[in-house]
Amino acid sequence: MDNCIFCKIARNEAKSWRIFESEKACAFLDINPISEFHTLVISKNHYVNIFDVPEEELLEIMKALKKVVQLYEDKLGLKDVQIISNSGRAAQQDVFHIHFHIIPRKKGDGNNLKWITHPEFVPKFDEMVSQLK
Ligand code: 5GP
Ligand code: ZN
Repeated sequence: MDNCIFCKIARNEAKSWRIFESEKACAFLDINPISEFHTLVISKNHYVNIFDVPEEELLEIMKALKKVVQLYEDKLGLKDVQIISNSGRAAQQDVFHIHFHIIPRKKGDGNNLKWITHPEFVPKFDEMVSQLK
């Protein structure tokens, strides 16, 4: 994918602050950090998101993700972290190369996600489950 910024980063054709690298995945600092050490973990091969990534490649991303979290725990004393992956425009994906955000969190950092809950969906659970049969 010639125009994909994350492919360029994976091939070392674009500048990044690399944290970790394996044969199939790499991790680097997010250029718009919402906390110190906000990191992105990607596959080196181009996949758009969770819908097209093969299981084996997803596993390689997860292994790299775990290594980075372990590194931050060991070196930085990281205790609180949010791991987020957006797939699709309505799910707030902006870069269409699969990635997982590692977002170190601190009490009172102001970055709490505001979930809007919908209790009216609970009575529909039977119907929802039957849709999958
Ligand atoms: P998304 O919204 O798709 O889940 O997240 C994309 C992330 O990629 C954003 O947090 C954005 O800051 C980051 N990003 C976009 N372009 C670059 C880049 O050129 N370098 C780095 N390091 N991060 C980028
Ligand atoms: Zn790409």
